[in-house]
Amino acid sequence: MIEKNSFYHAALDMSAQLSAWRRDFHRYPELGYEENRTAGIVADHLKRLGLEVRTGVGQTGIVGLLRGAEPGPTVLLRADMDALPIPDGKTVDYASTVKGKAHLCGHDGHTAMLMAAAQLLAARGAPRKGHIKFMFQPAEEGLAGAQAMIDDGVLDHPRVDAAFALHVKPTIASGTIGVGSGTFYAAADRIRIKIIGRGGHAAAPHQTIDAIPIAAQVITALQTIASRQTDPLDSVVVTIGQIHGGFASNVIAPEVEMNGTVRTLNPDLQKLMPARIERIVRGVTESFGATFEFDYKFSYPIVVNDESITDLVRQTADRTLGLGRWFNERPTMGGEDFAFVAREVPSALFWLGVNDGTERTSYPLHHPMFDLDENALPVGAAMLASAAWHYMEQA
Ligand SMILES: [Zn+2]
Ligand SMILES: [Zn+2]
Repeated sequence: MIEKNSFYHAALDMSAQLSAWRRDFHRYPELGYEENRTAGIVADHLKRLGLEVRTGVGQTGIVGLLRGAEPGPTVLLRADMDALPIPDGKTVDYASTVKGKAHLCGHDGHTAMLMAAAQLLAARGAPRKGHIKFMFQPAEEGLAGAQAMIDDGVLDHPRVDAAFALHVKPTIASGTIGVGSGTFYAAADRIRIKIIGRGGHAAAPHQTIDAIPIAAQVITALQTIASRQTDPLDSVVVTIGQIHGGFASNVIAPEVEMNGTVRTLNPDLQKLMPARIERIVRGVTESFGATFEFDYKFSYPIVVNDESITDLVRQTADRTLGLGRWFNERPTMGGEDFAFVAREVPSALFWLGVNDGTERTSYPLHHPMFDLDENALPVGAAMLASAAWHYMEQA
């Protein structure tokens, strides 16, 4: 049964406002560390609600604080504000107006939902004991905006004791909550490989060291890390997403440069990956008389959801939305820079379904046609507000 003072009813009353905010951000997407317009709208809103507001945290991040009457625990709610450097493929009236940029990961919705959650909580008045912090972060898409905000003190003054975040998910029915404790998102590392051969005329390959067939062998051999060198029960992904080499059809390419990502769920396995990849690159290139450059960059860590904070999300869904609205989900090989928060304080990141069963809301995240069911926005806003409220009640 939904609890009497559920934030859900109040959130439903904000449906039109939630859509308006989300569509406005959708029309004017901004990439990582360029979220000046979005951050300005967020900051103005939080100030109007009477919150203490810090701007320029981690460059373009915003922190709002709803200060309680007495000292006590501090709970943090996070949203990300950045868009992607992908052209919007939609023709809806709220489609991106900025060439080559679009909100195709739902961060426009995340920002709108956290603005609404702040309004719902502020309307209920200052907490009796403890504080609620709102973190609107820049640059989630690969540029570690959460870490930048941590470096700028988002978890301090007052020190944060627990944190919640949500991410929209187009594979889950709209308004349904996906949760999981323990490892929930993969570590997302980056690799750069350069094969260095010797160029020449395409008709005289014997006078050259052709970097292109060597690169092809390297790519193929890298797939044996997952299939032959790793415990099948330990997930790992090695993807080469970019490859550049050569000048023309009648020229042997002297060099090929490749960029890729490595995803792991097990930190012990993650530590082994640089050496395993380098061994393959070295072995293959040396066997053909070429040389190489190899960089491995540890990037987003694994998101580990705290057991008891995750359980609070389940209870929150039951109390706020009614029974049967959440289910346990398996982890994803995706990366999330909420990981930087989750390794500092007990945290839970959960998924909000945004698929209403139509083709429009069935495209994957980062697809040019990605769109979400706005009916899920009040659900997410209520979940964030309630999770903070229930945490304060329990603490
Ligand atoms: Zn994304
Ligand atoms: Zn995202």
